[in-house]
Amino acid sequence: MRRAELVRHLASIPPFPSARAELEQVATPPEAAADLLSEALARQDLVGRTVLDLGAGTGILAIGAALLGAEHVTAVEADPAALAVARTAGKRLGLEVAWVVGDVGSVDEPVDTVLMNPPFGAQQRHADRPFWERALLLARRRVYAFALSGARTFIEGRAVARGARIEETVPVPWRFPRTFPHHRRRSVELAVDRWILSTGDER
Ligand code: SAH
Repeated sequence: MRRAELVRHLASIPPFPSARAELEQVATPPEAAADLLSEALARQDLVGRTVLDLGAGTGILAIGAALLGAEHVTAVEADPAALAVARTAGKRLGLEVAWVVGDVGSVDEPVDTVLMNPPFGAQQRHADRPFWERALLLARRRVYAFALSGARTFIEGRAVARGARIEETVPVPWRFPRTFPHHRRRSVELAVDRWILSTGDER
């Protein structure tokens, strides 16, 4: 699939029905999602693989993985309203994804590839921690994630503790439109990194 087509599909997913600040519902921009998915595709972590999207929100990463040929995609999300949007969007595209309402801490099944845009921990300190714990525990091959650049030291520490190898930490453009009631400006540019960590045998 061409990048422009992938971006178009991802951009067609509706926004969070009622963005909840306490859950840090920050949707991944379609371009950033497409680039992350392309990296996973190039590293052979999608086609024929089992994929887990932690904190799936309205489903952009899970839907993208399914569009690009993942064998089985599971998407876990705490907010049923967000997941309902994801389910409808996936169905409209003719995709099969196991949409699961639940807490990331309750996921136990190992997978090949974990994709995630966890809460950034801006509202609730350390809200990203259970995501990184689960991701590094469950991914057999790699973890692909977004995080605020302020989380670098924490993530590097988790990677070392889990014996994962950091393959990439690159800043990505991330314009965050006004979403929550406490936002004043129309949009802000967030300092976000894309992370790729190898948890597999090549580590
Ligand atoms: N993956 C989506 C959403 C990212 S926002 C995207 O890339 O656009 C982070 C998501 O994590 C939100 O939808 C929020 O509701 C969810 N979330 C926060 N804490 C959670 C938890 N403990 N368990 C499951 N989902 C959680």
